[in-house]
Amino acid sequence: MSQTTFPTARLMDGSALARRMVEEAAARAAELTARTGQAPCLATVLVGDDPASVTYVRMKRNRCAKAGIESRHVALPADTTTAALVDTLGELSADPGVHGILLQHPVGPHIDERAAFEAIAPEKDVDGVTAHSFAAMSLGMDGFASCTPGGIVRLLDHYGVELAGKHAVVVGRSAILGKPVGMLLLGRDATVAYCHSRTADLAAHTREADVLIAAVGRAGFLRGDQLKPGAVVVDAGYNPGNVGDVDFASAAAVADLITPVPGGVGPMTIATLLTQTVDAARRQLATV
Ligand code: NAP
Repeated sequence: MSQTTFPTARLMDGSALARRMVEEAAARAAELTARTGQAPCLATVLVGDDPASVTYVRMKRNRCAKAGIESRHVALPADTTTAALVDTLGELSADPGVHGILLQHPVGPHIDERAAFEAIAPEKDVDGVTAHSFAAMSLGMDGFASCTPGGIVRLLDHYGVELAGKHAVVVGRSAILGKPVGMLLLGRDATVAYCHSRTADLAAHTREADVLIAAVGRAGFLRGDQLKPGAVVVDAGYNPGNVGDVDFASAAAVADLITPVPGGVGPMTIATLLTQTVDAARRQLATV
């Protein structure tokens, strides 16, 4: 007789929590605007016209507008040089009318992305991409978190996930996602392992994870049989077709808590960006 498995995992609803965060950001933006006469302003910088990047930037600007955050868009041609991009980011960093800067990435293979990120002033690095922000995040100092990792930890906190003493496994080690989320989890006293494309016997690691963060960029890459029963599974992947890095059906049958895609990590990333933009503006306008 064939045995039917039923999903047992509870969903971590990123959309609902993100909505509340955006409402809070909007209220704080309105208070700041009324008090100082200046609305928080996010500069978005896009190099080229990659359709996915164009959509992401439009989405972020729409959310800003709804939250009472101004945005200033800088569209640069695809053949922009590293030097020209660094100049643009330097000008925005020096502009008192801009409180946060978002460089949409990837920026194209001919650009030195790290050099571009480093041209963003730390106090305006609301996307948390500079070495300064990474160091602050890793050392538990004041600074802006990378938005997706920051959103993930906030979601885990909201669902009461205890991190201290837990074994956390991060699959992926990119500078904007895998590495910083591991640092935030370490800062919360989890025991953290990073896995990547050169990891031997990936499943042996993922089956040990009390908390698993999937940040690979491959649709349905992690399956339920690679997870520890009762694990907390965060799927940060967002792949063509709106699917994550985790095979949801098989994972939900063994996990305790899981994020859906869409509606999990994605909305939390944007909500964190908006929250940090308001934080940046409040600090910069503190003396106004
Ligand atoms: P990335 O820069 O391409 O990094 C992917 C990571 O996965 C790398 O560290 C790579 O290892 C690792 N990897 C690749 N193949 C693997 C394998 N077979 N086994 C184990 N590890 C493997 O991607 P990313 O920018 O971090 O993004 C990851 C995913 O998150 C994507 O789906 C992206 O769309 C999504 N994302 C979502 C949001 C959001 O707001 N929801 C934000 C950012 C990213 P190596 O380092 O060894 O190459």
